[in-house]
Amino acid sequence: MPESRHERQPAHVCPHCQSVNRVPAAKLADQPNCGRCQPPLFTGAPIELTTATFTRHVERSDIPLLVDFWAPWCGPCKMMAPQFQQDARLLEPKVRLAKVDTEAEPQLATRFGIRSIPTLALFRGGREIARQAGAMGAKDIVRWASSAVVS
Ligand SMILES: [Zn+2]
Repeated sequence: MPESRHERQPAHVCPHCQSVNRVPAAKLADQPNCGRCQPPLFTGAPIELTTATFTRHVERSDIPLLVDFWAPWCGPCKMMAPQFQQDARLLEPKVRLAKVDTEAEPQLATRFGIRSIPTLALFRGGREIARQAGAMGAKDIVRWASSAVVS
């Protein structure tokens, strides 16, 4: 029997209190709660990230982070929002979905060189691994993100 300390326990950053939770992969399907602040770590909805919380989620989480860079005045962004919302239920807990309002968080848009919105960017292990500009449907987003994660 392998000792339990050798089991891989991926880190998940709580979207509510930003603390890092270690959750065994097998427990993820049971809708684990945050060990510190209690609400579920995954809510079936994209989380809102700000300049203050972005880096922590990108660098400390062991699962890929799919970010929708959007703005309130952008029509295609509004059209894509419900599709992206739907994807959270499909992709969690394998992928965490997040939204960055580029109007409220211009530093993040500058930092990642976001030139058009909506732009989807996929991060893993603190690095950006894929990017796609333009609105997409829910199924296309899942297909694109899944192929980027396995490649
Ligand atoms: Zn928490």
